Amino acid sequence: MKSSLTRGRALKQIAGLPLAALAVGATLSAAQGAVANNQKQYKYQNKPGAKGAKCSGCRFFKPPHGCTIVTGTISPNGWCIAYSPK
Ligand code: SF4
Repeated sequence: MKSSLTRGRALKQIAGLPLAALAVGATLSAAQGAVANNQKQYKYQNKPGAKGAKCSGCRFFKPPHGCTIVTGTISPNGWCIAYSPK
């Protein structure tokens, strides 16, 4: 009798594992989404800013299409509010 109760409890714990794994996965996806979407936060645009300021002339630009601050694909001709000339 005691062993069947223990087995039942163990089965319940095992059954809960996939749900726990799903919850962790969903949290990670949300965090990754937040990182991938900081272009709005920095008001990134796919065209040069005032006076021709653009990513290719910014110290944070990582050729060919990256940036140390703004995530995602960055155009050499883009611009954002973190622009800092080289
Ligand atoms: S900080 Fe802004 S302007 Fe500079 S490279 Fe990154 S996205 Fe372009």
